[in-house]
Amino acid sequence: MTRLGLLRGDGIGPEIVPATVTVIEAAVAAAGCEPIEWVDLPTGWAGLEEAGTTLPERTHTALAELPGWVTGPHDSSAYPQPWRSRLSPHGDLRQRFELYANIRPVRNLPGVRGVVDGMDLAFARENTEGFYSDRAVVAGTGEMMPTADVALSTGIFTRRRATQIAHAACALARQRRGRVTVVHKAHVLGLTMGLYLDVAREVAASYPDVTLDEVHVDAATVHLVRNPGRFDVLMTENMHGDILSDLAGELAGALGLSPSLNAGDDKAMAQAAHGSAPDIAGQGIANPTGLILSAELLLRWLEDHGHGEGLARAADHVRDGVERALREGRGTRDLGGQDSTGSFAQAVADAITA
Ligand code: ATP
Ligand code: MG
Repeated sequence: MTRLGLLRGDGIGPEIVPATVTVIEAAVAAAGCEPIEWVDLPTGWAGLEEAGTTLPERTHTALAELPGWVTGPHDSSAYPQPWRSRLSPHGDLRQRFELYANIRPVRNLPGVRGVVDGMDLAFARENTEGFYSDRAVVAGTGEMMPTADVALSTGIFTRRRATQIAHAACALARQRRGRVTVVHKAHVLGLTMGLYLDVAREVAASYPDVTLDEVHVDAATVHLVRNPGRFDVLMTENMHGDILSDLAGELAGALGLSPSLNAGDDKAMAQAAHGSAPDIAGQGIANPTGLILSAELLLRWLEDHGHGEGLARAADHVRDGVERALREGRGTRDLGGQDSTGSFAQAVADAITA
């Protein structure tokens, strides 16, 4: 029996999370696995209501015992103070559980017109430090103003994290086409990005079946538009990965369809790449695909890490079900379709069961 956490989140979260559960349950049954046992836990506004905090202690304690969870997005910028200025619930979970690798596959999907074709790549984005250094140190201390007219921001690169993300990138490339492109700016940021680039070279050298290629971050934007087929796995620091993965997702026509997995050595969190979309919350029109495909990544990760048999097969069912539903012209309004959040999820579940 695999037990997984379920964090409904804010905004469209309480709509896309149950839709994702519908699909996972159909896929797990089709793969002949035991049903998943869900542990429903409050975060965000639900946490504020229940326990006066956006990440209640009972949620943290329960997650510490679980190998993974599915989470909806958080509407952190709308929280009352002091929560608005603190690390978001996801930021907190990434730090506490050392979910250092943000894995973001991006590819063209059938039935969805992208700006470019031929995109089938994955980001291995460092998720806890780099130029979003407030994630790495005490929240809020990554930036400072020594005078009213001067603002400073710190970038933190540690050998430990660079090594971890380089191994994550190489391991991912091994399951794909065997190529890692390290994205950097070491000719300008010699010490920080220099350390990161050196570590990437060292680690990649220990994977004889993986080829390492090096690209400056600005050149990476050009290649993503002109020739995305040259990329397999892109290893990036935190901020570069944030920006490039949104660009790639939108170029593939699919930012709202983009999945992500926040993975550490012993836990993983499935989270769509998009936000809480408060403008459309409660209307039943949100597209659940990004989170459904994030759950696919989580199922694969769980099987790879020994947390259940047959879950990779269930993950294949999730992917095939989504593709079949999209190919048949099903989809939510943002894709020009007629489906509600629930009816699209049901179409995917039906495609799996059929
Ligand atoms: P955050 O700061 O939480 O990342 P954001 O400002 O990036 O938020 P999103 O919440 O991602 O914004 O929403 C951006 C736009 O995309 C909004 O108009 C929203 O309605 C739309 N959107 C986001 N996710 C979805 C979805 N799953 N289905 C349909 N539309 C979506
Ligand atoms: Mg956003």
